[in-house]
Amino acid sequence: MRNKTVLISGASIAGPALAYWLDRYGFRVTVVEKAPGLRPGGQAVDFKGRTHRTVLERMGVWEEIRQRRTGTFDTVYLDEAGRELAVMTGEFTGGDVEILRGDLAAILHERTSGGCEYRFGDSITALAETADGVRAEFEHGAAQTFDLVIGADGIHSRVRRLTFGPEREFVRHLGYYYCVAGAPGFGHDARRPERLTARAWNAPGRMAARGGSKGSHLYLFASAEPDRARGDAAAQRRLITELFAGMGGEVPSMLDELDHLDDFYLDAIAQVRMKGRYTSGRVALVGDAAYGNTLGGFGTGLAVVGAYVLAGELAVADGDHEAGYARYDEIMRRYAKIAGNSNAGRFMAPKTAWGIRGRNWLLGSRAFGLMMKYGDKAANDIDLADYPTLAGARPDQG
Ligand SMILES: Cc1cc2nc3c(=O)[nH]c(=O)nc-3n(C[C@H](O)[C@H](O)[C@H](O)COP(=O)(O)OP(=O)(O)OC[C@H]3O[C@@H](n4cnc5c(N)ncnc54)[C@H](O)[C@@H]3O)c2cc1C
Repeated sequence: MRNKTVLISGASIAGPALAYWLDRYGFRVTVVEKAPGLRPGGQAVDFKGRTHRTVLERMGVWEEIRQRRTGTFDTVYLDEAGRELAVMTGEFTGGDVEILRGDLAAILHERTSGGCEYRFGDSITALAETADGVRAEFEHGAAQTFDLVIGADGIHSRVRRLTFGPEREFVRHLGYYYCVAGAPGFGHDARRPERLTARAWNAPGRMAARGGSKGSHLYLFASAEPDRARGDAAAQRRLITELFAGMGGEVPSMLDELDHLDDFYLDAIAQVRMKGRYTSGRVALVGDAAYGNTLGGFGTGLAVVGAYVLAGELAVADGDHEAGYARYDEIMRRYAKIAGNSNAGRFMAPKTAWGIRGRNWLLGSRAFGLMMKYGDKAANDIDLADYPTLAGARPDQG
């Protein structure tokens, strides 16, 4: 095989999924992750349709994901007096199966830690490509040369910045921010009802939800300013308190709780636009780093499908990165279009009272069913190749 050693940056979903396949195909894989260890919890992520399921079945993780699923969360939009205005079904927000990101990362790590080397608490600081490799420097570890380097380090990818250029060229702010606070606080529990309910309130350009699968609180607000996520957590908590003051329903009591909730995170809702190329020289991007769309849905499915395709094409090309990367770019350019089509902020927190009424009407109409069908179709709009393993067996036959 032409290229054997691969460095992956990021050990959440795309990184370990890629590591799984590369290891099966005979590559030597190192994964570097900036967090000191696996990060538990996180918001719930979901899979939808036969394509996602096929890849997860071929990885042998589908049943475990089903066992650790969160359950189905309907989001009920209420008025200030607590009357129901509309329901966003759990199938729309949570697909066929929803699982905490940390649980999914743990499952994937468990499947790969035997064959791949994980280095937690470190990060790439510089990349220099030579004729036969990429020399990586690290914050802590010694510099090392790898045949290939893959960025699976999320929407704010450092590998993308080091290889392709500054974030502002590739990450588009969609005019909204999200804030999650407090763990969702559930896991799979056979005694728990399968259908659960989150409660949500809107004001123009704002949404506050309590008890959903993203966190115990979820706030969304419209703002075109690029840097509202700056400042420390205390300043960010103050920002949420100011912006949501005056809203009715349970929002005042949510704001009272906010200071006491851990797992507070605020960031822009953003979309990655790579102009159709996720690779450059010996470096490639996969998952949110390449085609992320915060809260837009399908991000996790795209990450596992992208990992499957990237590893498979490299294996079919016998490690030739030029050939393998070209096919990966071509296949994902089409499939990842799904990530460019939605802005969850606009749908969940319309900017006008009319917009909110229109959204509520849509949720109860036949048009909403059509919208869901369109999403299902886009999630399956790929012919998955049945990549052989080096041993000649199909991947799902062990
Ligand atoms: C609030 C919220 C709700 C969401 N809801 C859904 C949903 O319902 N459905 C869905 O499909 N998707 C959802 N997503 C998107 C989903 O989380 C991502 O698409 C998915 O996690 C992508 O996985 P990834 O591995 O590419 O990136 P990430 O999960 O972002 O992981 C990147 C990893 O890289 C690490 N890293 C970052 N920088 C460095 C560095 N310099 N060096 C080393 N490591 C680094 C990070 O610590 C992290 O472990 C949601 C996202 C958010 C924020």
